[in-house]
Amino acid sequence: MKNFIIAGNWKMNCPDIPAFAAALPAQEPGPTVIIAPPFPFIPAALRAFLRCGVGVSAQDVSAHERGAFTGEVSAEHLASLGARYAIVGHSERRAYHGETNELVCAKASVALRHGLTPIICVGETMEQRRLGDTEAVLTRGVSQSANGLDPSKIIVAYEPVWAIGTGIAATALDAERAAELIAELVPGAPVLYGGSVTPDNARELLSKRHISGALIGGASLGADSLGAIINTAISLSKEAEEL
Ligand code: PEP
Repeated sequence: MKNFIIAGNWKMNCPDIPAFAAALPAQEPGPTVIIAPPFPFIPAALRAFLRCGVGVSAQDVSAHERGAFTGEVSAEHLASLGARYAIVGHSERRAYHGETNELVCAKASVALRHGLTPIICVGETMEQRRLGDTEAVLTRGVSQSANGLDPSKIIVAYEPVWAIGTGIAATALDAERAAELIAELVPGAPVLYGGSVTPDNARELLSKRHISGALIGGASLGADSLGAIINTAISLSKEAEEL
């Protein structure tokens, strides 16, 4: 049976954290739920979410251990706060900050050294998809971004760039094909799907064999919509148990 992972990426937004935590469904037993708030709100998120078993993630982490890197946030400092995960290689970081697979791998490595689980994002652009390059982009993205890392200690998120924030999710079949490819490259690593996941499409996506969860942007900003996706994961787990 899958242990679903439902991760919310709040990007540069922050709902009222205590109200949000109070409105989430109880999850004992349930999926692993992770929220990635903006850096300054990590302590408040830890206070509010630890009580309800929600793990807190950073949205990024420095590739450097420490030193003269103005504006960067180290894995050591994040871990010392109590964060447990770090998203690395989100397509917005790749597009707006020129992050390469090699840099993403360095970030994931430093996260692991400090006990954080990296959530490594990979995905093709619409242009790459049109050119039929999806498999090659994913193969390169995963092999280089997770190069030398222990697959049992990482999470990979398949996030087609064209699906992020557009309201157009990948079909469950396409997402499953990509997740299967990723699972072959990093056996044992949970593979999440991300890109316009909503309460309406979550069931179909999460039902797919190689999709172990979701990385959710827009729909994670409302406790109702995130809660509905968590509830979907809970019911899919129950249904699998009953089989
Ligand atoms: C994301 O930013 O990782 C994401 C998947 O966003 P959205 O769910 O809004 O498409």
